[in-house]
Amino acid sequence: MIKVKVKSIMTPNPVVIELPATRSYALDLFKKHRVRSFPVVKRSTKQLVGIVSVKHLLLNPDEDQLAMLIKRDVPTVKPTDDIKKAAKAMLMKNYRRVVVVNNENKVVGILTVGDIIRRYLAKNEKMKRIEIEPFYQRYISVVWRGTPLKAALKALLLADSMALPVIDEEGNLIGIIDETDILRDSEVIITMKSSSLYPSSEEEWILESNPTLLLTKRELKLPNKPIEEIMTKDVIKATEHMSVYDVANKMAQYKIEQLPVIKGQGDLVGLIRDMDLLKVLLNYKHK
Ligand code: SAM
Repeated sequence: MIKVKVKSIMTPNPVVIELPATRSYALDLFKKHRVRSFPVVKRSTKQLVGIVSVKHLLLNPDEDQLAMLIKRDVPTVKPTDDIKKAAKAMLMKNYRRVVVVNNENKVVGILTVGDIIRRYLAKNEKMKRIEIEPFYQRYISVVWRGTPLKAALKALLLADSMALPVIDEEGNLIGIIDETDILRDSEVIITMKSSSLYPSSEEEWILESNPTLLLTKRELKLPNKPIEEIMTKDVIKATEHMSVYDVANKMAQYKIEQLPVIKGQGDLVGLIRDMDLLKVLLNYKHK
């Protein structure tokens, strides 16, 4: 059995934040690199301390010391570990990334669910023979097309999914929404830009790059429209018997994290999320 090692698909030498550091230094770094989180290391030893996310940073505007804003319980793997170990860590913690460290606990890479999808599952011919049927979610949240934006947003935030299928009166799949669709509405952006929640103008850039954060704010004013006016109508779908390979390639090609699953004449039966595809690695032996 040949192992597929973490180092063959990780992103090597990621940007890290060295401690001690200030909040504004971290914000500048987020601004420059447009990612949602960074590993944090100790300056003197370069050893991993934890991870800091831009969301956490902005939700705690009064905390200036970065050390107080670090999530320390971060799953780590070694470059020589099997990617199976990384997939298992992500699934167990419902975490979309793991930090790759060497034997001295120094950061050498980052591995995300997207990396596994794009650089492994979408490239491995053997994945053509595995169907998604055992892996997709059967119990999912959906929204009706007439649902007002605000209610749809609440449903989105409560769902264990980054997007929700939209159905009509008959229960047919007619669209899909995620937070970027709600944000795209110009009225929303204008409301947020003038929001007093963000006293510092240097933090405004985050309004566009980090929708989740903004949408969780109660003060957010959403236009009074039904969700069907802003949903994506051209839905990329999967069928139960589609292969892991094909679904991974669709996710990579369209930069999407999930596909609604349909059966027969288009009957919506579930959703396959990128995280679900990781389950393939846990009971699959690389040959
Ligand atoms: N989290 C990603 C980001 O911010 O980079 C999302 C990117 S994805 C391209 C966002 C768009 O894809 C949204 O308009 C959403 O409605 C749409 N989308 C999500 N899943 C889809 C699917 N299965 N088929 C078609 N469009 C989808």
